Amino acid sequence: MSSFETICEELKITHTKLVAVSKTKPVEEIMPVYHKGQRIFGENKVQEMVDKQEQMPKDIEWHLIGHLQTNKVKYIAPFVSMIHSIDSLKLLNEVEKQAAKNNRVINILLQMHVANEETKFGLDQTELIELMDYYLSNPKNYAHVNIVGIMGMATNTNDTNQIRNEFKQLKGIFQFIKNSYFINKKDFAEISMGMSSDYTIAIEEGSTMVRIGSLLFGHR
Ligand SMILES: *Cc1c(COP(=O)(O)O)cnc(C)c1O
Repeated sequence: MSSFETICEELKITHTKLVAVSKTKPVEEIMPVYHKGQRIFGENKVQEMVDKQEQMPKDIEWHLIGHLQTNKVKYIAPFVSMIHSIDSLKLLNEVEKQAAKNNRVINILLQMHVANEETKFGLDQTELIELMDYYLSNPKNYAHVNIVGIMGMATNTNDTNQIRNEFKQLKGIFQFIKNSYFINKKDFAEISMGMSSDYTIAIEEGSTMVRIGSLLFGHR
C-alpha cells in the first residue's frame, strides 16, 4: 500500500486527478482519506454508493466507475457527479432522463473498449460513431448530460508494452472524438485511465484522471 500523500505528490506534477476507489471498503476506512483532503471517490456498485453517500459528508464528488444498468440510474441521479461507464445510447438516454427529472447536469465519460478481454465493457469504434451521430443529430435533447471525456481499462497483464499500447489507443480515440465532434468544447478534456497496477504508464500516455483503489485502501 502506498501512502495517499505519496500518490498525491506524484499526481500533482502532471496535474492528474485522483479518483479514490473506495468500493467494498467501509465508511470508517474511507473517512481518514477524506480527512486528508480527498473529495473524489469512486464506486462500482449503485447500492453501495447510495449507502455511502447518505452516511458521508455532502461535499464529496461521487464517481460511478463500474458497469451501470439502466434501471438503476434513478438511484444515483440525485447526487452523482460523474459517470465513467456510459457504454450505450440507451444508457446515455436514461441518464439524460433521470438528470432532467432531478434538474441536474451529470458529467459523463464514454467508456471505450480497448482491452484484449471479452469481459471488459465499453463501446467499440462503430458503436461510438453511432452514439455520437445520434447525440449530435439533436443535442438539445441532451441538456442534462455533459460529455467530458472517455474512460478505458487496459488488459490485466504483466506485459507493460501491451498496456502502454492500449493506453495509446485510448488517447488516440480521445483525440479522434475531440477533433471530429468537440473541437470547440473546452470541457471535453478528460481521459480516465490507470488503476493501482498501471497508473504510472497511464499518466505517461496522457491520463488526466486515475482510478486508484487497492494502493490506497489495501487489498479487497
Ligand atoms: C476497482 C476498479 C478500479 C481500481 O482498481 P485498483 O486495482 O484497486 O486500483 C479502477 N477502475 C475500475 C473500473 C474499477 O472497477
